[in-house]
Amino acid sequence: MRHRIAVIGGGPAGLTFARVLHRRDHPVTVFERDPAPDARPPGGTLDLHEGLGQLALDKAGLLGEYQALSRPEGQAMRILDMDGTVLRDWRPGPDERANPEIDRGQLRDLLLGPLDVQWGRGVTEVVPGTPDGVLVHFADGRQEAFDLVVGADGAWSRVRPALSPVTPHYTGVSSVETSLDDVDTRYPDLARLIGDGSVAVYGVNRSLVAQRNSGGHVKVYTKFRAPLDWHAGLDPADVEAMRSSLLALFDGWAAPVLDLLRHGTAFVHRPFYVLPVSHTWDHVPGVTLLGDAAHLMPPLGAGANLAMLEGAELAESIAAAPGDLDEVVRAFEEQMWVRAGKWAKITTAGLERLVSPDPAEALAVFDQVQPS
Ligand SMILES: Cc1cc2nc3c(=O)[nH]c(=O)nc-3n(C[C@H](O)[C@H](O)[C@H](O)COP(=O)(O)OP(=O)(O)OC[C@H]3O[C@@H](n4cnc5c(N)ncnc54)[C@H](O)[C@@H]3O)c2cc1C
Repeated sequence: MRHRIAVIGGGPAGLTFARVLHRRDHPVTVFERDPAPDARPPGGTLDLHEGLGQLALDKAGLLGEYQALSRPEGQAMRILDMDGTVLRDWRPGPDERANPEIDRGQLRDLLLGPLDVQWGRGVTEVVPGTPDGVLVHFADGRQEAFDLVVGADGAWSRVRPALSPVTPHYTGVSSVETSLDDVDTRYPDLARLIGDGSVAVYGVNRSLVAQRNSGGHVKVYTKFRAPLDWHAGLDPADVEAMRSSLLALFDGWAAPVLDLLRHGTAFVHRPFYVLPVSHTWDHVPGVTLLGDAAHLMPPLGAGANLAMLEGAELAESIAAAPGDLDEVVRAFEEQMWVRAGKWAKITTAGLERLVSPDPAEALAVFDQVQPS
């Protein structure tokens, strides 16, 4: 029996779900709000963990292609003191494959493969329990009915209200990102500072991480504790004003570290929001959530990994027991909540320690995760 299945959102969760179903010859429609794959910058590099994102790619039959594209050397991590002193300098061994990095755009294209995504189809509302099934309303005024609607539409999900009244709340930590292009040619000193992977500096209630992507592109992430309206009066599109305010925030840090901000091209403000640590809902036949839509948590290396594994697992379960859709989804939700709750606790505690009044806490986190 073939069910009418829609997935809302073409991020890591939605595409992995669709790709694994596609591999099992099960039809699925992906609706994505963006008008095209390259409609906006894809974001920074992602490290995919062996038992999470890599396992999901294996289920999608894409592990070999990921291994060919990914950068194991990108796992390298250097930690500096605010004055530039090197505190830790960890490099992966030649066979270290626990968390290789891949650019988000490369991962998206890998997952997209043969999938037929309906671009420019933003969803406004999902209504379960109609005589036709679950009704999906689109921003273009159209509506379509399905047997199962999977909400993989991220932090501000339009599917989630069909299941849960909960909305994300601010963590008290904001981030401003910038990036540098062609770093090896234009800024060789900074290229050496960053190395093959990342360089991180932790101060009092703030941090700065610069991370190498492929092609000489570097993403710089600042994080700091601040009220949500810290930038009131600042125009985020005003590059010089954003740069000055960041340089003031990180005043006194070593000159090469500040150079990462001085040479940044554009600045993106990203306040960190989260859902409650153990977000669950009463099961509603015909609708479920994956990834950030279900369990938005601090961005500390788990979100995309969980999103992908959930997508792969739900797809495999549906393909294995296609007649029993509702029971399959119910069992999947129980399993997702347990694992996501565990990671939400870990990442919430991690954010507290990585953007902390005591920078030694951040170093202790690194030493726990990456014992030398
Ligand atoms: C700075 C930063 C760094 C991170 N680093 C890592 C990392 O190294 N490792 C890791 O595992 N995680 C990382 N994360 C977290 C990770 O990005 C997310 O957890 C992950 O992208 C979630 O995937 P998703 O598919 O659930 O949602 P998303 O990636 O948000 O995708 C949702 C998709 O749905 C679409 N959409 C939204 N609304 C609608 C709508 N109404 N109708 C149709 N489509 C819609 C969006 O356009 C988007 O394509 C990081 C996050 C940030 C912010």
